[in-house]
Amino acid sequence: MTTHNHDKGFATRAVRAGQQRTNEQEHAEPIFVTSSYVFDSAEQAAARFSGDEAGNIYSRFTNPTVRTFEQRLAALECAESAVATSSGMSAILSTFMALLSAGDHIVCSRSVFGTTRVLIDKYLLKFGLEVDYVSLTDLADWQAAIKPNTKALFLETPSNPLNDVADLAALSTLAKAHDCLLIVDNCFCTPALQQPLLLGADIVIHSATKYIDGQGRCVGGAVVGDSKRVGEEVYGFLRTAGPTMSPFNAWTFLKGLETLDIRMKAHSASALTIAAWLEQQPQVTKVFYAGLSSHPQHELAKRQQSAFGGIIAFEVKGGKEGAWKLINSTQWLSITANLGDAKTTITHPATTTHGRLSVEARAASGITDGLIRLSVGLEDIEDIKADLQHGLDLL
Ligand SMILES: *Cc1c(COP(=O)(O)O)cnc(C)c1O
Repeated sequence: MTTHNHDKGFATRAVRAGQQRTNEQEHAEPIFVTSSYVFDSAEQAAARFSGDEAGNIYSRFTNPTVRTFEQRLAALECAESAVATSSGMSAILSTFMALLSAGDHIVCSRSVFGTTRVLIDKYLLKFGLEVDYVSLTDLADWQAAIKPNTKALFLETPSNPLNDVADLAALSTLAKAHDCLLIVDNCFCTPALQQPLLLGADIVIHSATKYIDGQGRCVGGAVVGDSKRVGEEVYGFLRTAGPTMSPFNAWTFLKGLETLDIRMKAHSASALTIAAWLEQQPQVTKVFYAGLSSHPQHELAKRQQSAFGGIIAFEVKGGKEGAWKLINSTQWLSITANLGDAKTTITHPATTTHGRLSVEARAASGITDGLIRLSVGLEDIEDIKADLQHGLDLL
């Protein structure tokens, strides 16, 4: 796709892009809490409805606060277009509904968000979509799965929770050779650390619920890409089916974007320090973090991302019992499945986010019983380490 170059840096765009002041000359972005808009005349109403005149009609179609968020996110991903959705899942649903048809085949990474697999397997397959799952990091596996009716490759990188990294440029070349779309869920990195469209992806998906909000407040999502597929086709599905973002949530995410650059740098710096520290602990058998030189795709991650993000997975001695003991020994880390928050969160994937997988499927995705996921927040590093140390001392 054509990508947009900008004359301003990333942090400046994150604070400024998309804002259009009203006649009130407000400094901060206003929240337009209105479901519909008034017209000057019957003639204007007719012109708006026929599309002869651009402008607001109804907030399922457009809302100024939501539009500001969309334009700002598009500027950060260097994209022509972004559409905001009510959640990350509705961003994925809207993309598939708008761009795929019965009989189309998609190749999907095996290491995607659990609910994404449920959406595909339980709901989309019954409408005639076909899917094959492949190893995120094995290019030959992707290539072998492509069929004449393959229309899209779908993945997350880095993966949740093991931080496997896919080679986006190589997958983009593969997708182009087979005339299919490369769709990347960029939730873990955000555009602050990785811009998949610049590496050849066609569509970027976001769960804004995570780092874009950054403080665990609102659920939302977005689809980012070119003006035809995203600006017309995905938007067309959204305005018809209605999983749109509320203006209040859009405003919250706008405020999140303003600090995204410094937050992602801080999350990444703290996570790197804690990952290196965990790797030294005798009770820790393995650490999965792409910033460590022990990580199999460390060099690729260095090329593709500007930093390694805030999520660490690590395995402790003692299997599930050891992992639960460590989690239960923390005094203030948040035991929750959410991630991307200023607050550090700690999760046991095998019994929560990946609990619905069969034992074999879980083993195939590397989610062992002793594995713990940490979403490193913005607290002092020494305090986070001290709280983890309570549990490590018991193992
Ligand atoms: C959370 C998440 C989603 C789903 O987003 P919601 O906002 O919860 O609907 C999709 N992909 C990834 C990688 C996620 O972490």
